[in-house]
Amino acid sequence: MSLPKIENLQITRVTENILHIHQIKTPFYFSCCDGLLILPKEGRNGLTIVLDVNIEPRHINALYEQFGPVSSYVCTHGHMDHITHVHTWEDLGAKIYGPEPELRTLLDLRHFYKMYRWEEGVDYAIIEEFAKINKYEKCKKAVPFNPGDKLNFEGFEIETIPLLGHSVSHVGFFLQKEKILHISCLGFDQPKPGIDGFGPWYGFKQCSISQYMDDIDKAEFIFREGAKYLTSSHSYIVKNPDKAPFKYMRRKIKENQQKVDIALANLKPTPNFEKKVEKLLKKDLFFPKKKMRGFIKKIYEFWEREIVTKHVQKSEMLSY
Ligand SMILES: [Zn+2]
Repeated sequence: MSLPKIENLQITRVTENILHIHQIKTPFYFSCCDGLLILPKEGRNGLTIVLDVNIEPRHINALYEQFGPVSSYVCTHGHMDHITHVHTWEDLGAKIYGPEPELRTLLDLRHFYKMYRWEEGVDYAIIEEFAKINKYEKCKKAVPFNPGDKLNFEGFEIETIPLLGHSVSHVGFFLQKEKILHISCLGFDQPKPGIDGFGPWYGFKQCSISQYMDDIDKAEFIFREGAKYLTSSHSYIVKNPDKAPFKYMRRKIKENQQKVDIALANLKPTPNFEKKVEKLLKKDLFFPKKKMRGFIKKIYEFWEREIVTKHVQKSEMLSY
C-alpha cells in the first residue's frame, strides 16, 4: 500500500500497518501533536485506532477519508497541544479515552484551568484567549482509564506507561507485539537529529524533575528490552539501538540546572527563597518574556516561575 499525500501532513510508516502522523504548519505553538494511526489488519483490529493524533479538523477529515472508519481514540494527557481538536475524531464516531484525572480537560476548559492550578497566577480570561488561539473545542464524552492500565480494542492490546514527571496522569504507549514505544510528551522534541528543542518540560506545580529522571530510565529500559521503534509527540522516529532521545532528555535537564546554578552564583546572596526566584525570573533564563506581550507573556511567566522554582529547590537540596 502506498501512502496518500495530504497537504500539510507528514505521514510516515513505522511498521506495515502503523503510521506516524505529523502536522507541519500549525495555527499556534500548542495546537497540535504527533501521534499514531493503527490501521486495520486481519486478525487484529477491524477499524482504525488513533493514538494521540491531535491535528486540525480539516486534516483529521482527510485522514478519515483515507483510513476511516475509526473505532477508538486515546489521549495521553490534558495539556493544550493534546486536547484541542479531539472533538473532531469524536464527531466522526471514535470513542474517546483519556487518563484519569486529566481526561476532564477534554470536556471543559474550566477543568483545564483547575487541573493545572492556573488560578494561582493567571485569570481564567487569559486561559480563554490561550484556548482560542490554539482552536480548542471540547468533547462531549470521554472514557477514563488509569495510567498503567492495559487497553484492549478488538484484541489489539495497548499498554499505557505512566510517565508522571511531565504531568499528573501523562502516559506513553507500549505496543508490545508491534515493538513500538510511544513516549508522548516526555521531552524528546528534536525536529531532526542535532537540532535542539526545549526538551523535557516541567512548568506546572505537579511536574517533578526527580520523577522525570525515573521516567527517562523506565522508558529507556522498555525501549532497549522490548521495542524496535520509538515515537513521540514532537519528534522523528528513532530505531533501536539509537539512544539519542534519552541522552538528549538527560542533557537538557542538566543544562537547565546549570543555567540556574550559574545565575544563582551571580546573585547577591539572600536567604529568601522567593526573592531568589523573583531575581532569576527577571533574567529571562528560559523564555524571552521581555519580548512578549499580553496573555502569552502571562502564561510564560507562570511556566518559567515553576521551572525556575524546581531548579532552585534542587540546587538548595544539593548545597546542604
Ligand atoms: Zn504535555
